[in-house]
Amino acid sequence: MPYTSAPTVLVAVGDELLSGHTQDTNSRLLATRLFEAGHPVRRIEVVADDETAIAAAIARALAEDGVRSVVVSGGIGPTPDDRTFAAVALAVGRPLELNPVAIAHIEGLVQRMHQAGWVETAEVSEANRRAAMVPAGATVLTNRRGMSPGLAIDTGAGQTVFVLPGIPRELSTILEEEMLPAYFGGGEVPSVLELRYQAVPEAEMDGPMRAVAGEFSDVSVGSYPQTDRRELVIRFRGRDPARVQEAAARFGTLRPDGPAERVVREGTSSSRQG
Ligand code: ATP
Ligand code: MG
Repeated sequence: MPYTSAPTVLVAVGDELLSGHTQDTNSRLLATRLFEAGHPVRRIEVVADDETAIAAAIARALAEDGVRSVVVSGGIGPTPDDRTFAAVALAVGRPLELNPVAIAHIEGLVQRMHQAGWVETAEVSEANRRAAMVPAGATVLTNRRGMSPGLAIDTGAGQTVFVLPGIPRELSTILEEEMLPAYFGGGEVPSVLELRYQAVPEAEMDGPMRAVAGEFSDVSVGSYPQTDRRELVIRFRGRDPARVQEAAARFGTLRPDGPAERVVREGTSSSRQG
């Protein structure tokens, strides 16, 4: 099957995600960008701000067949409900220790905040210092937009656990500047093509979809009704653009009416081809 060679599991941490107070946009961004980089996400798990629950989710992900990366986000700040570093330490079997790179970053930031008159003292508080207590042997991913460090932890078994802050702009900056370039290169960028039909019952696509799936094992085909626009999107994904095009063309021959639109997607942007 395409896209399962070295998959990633996402673990999103936060009571606010489970209660519906906050929408998990971080996982959506991670899934989008990793898919575009050719390192698709296999599974997303959302857990509470609970050390045991977080550690168990990480352990489950690491035990999954073929999983190469686990990305944990949220709960790394200075408040008592931030328990992610302790949970990661538990999951990878390492102690927490003061990381020199992380504490130097925090000290620098506090000093700049003091110079700017935002905080009374240039002393690092106990709470902020805790954000530099990270699992031993972790590599710091610089957080240019905040205090808590991002982390990459090599488990020693060919797997990496990434830890990112929950604040969306901090997470996205670390993802773009540190994680994707250094750890997620070399992926086979997927090819995506959509056929968009107007006012067609989804069940009518069953036969053509089965036929194409049978003939093109290297292309995945999905049906995504967009009820607001009365549009049915048939999406073809695969590594080889030519095969994706062929599969879509074959699908077209199995339908009496043509699609209203044919859209070649590149990640989140798309270009219409009539
Ligand atoms: P901080 O350093 O501020 O404590 P943190 O890593 O501990 O950051 P959280 O405390 O979990 O992160 O969340 C910080 C903010 O980011 C909160 O407002 C939270 O609702 C938001 N947030 C957390 N996780 C997500 C997510 N998956 N998607 C969108 N927003 C999120
Ligand atoms: Mg939180």
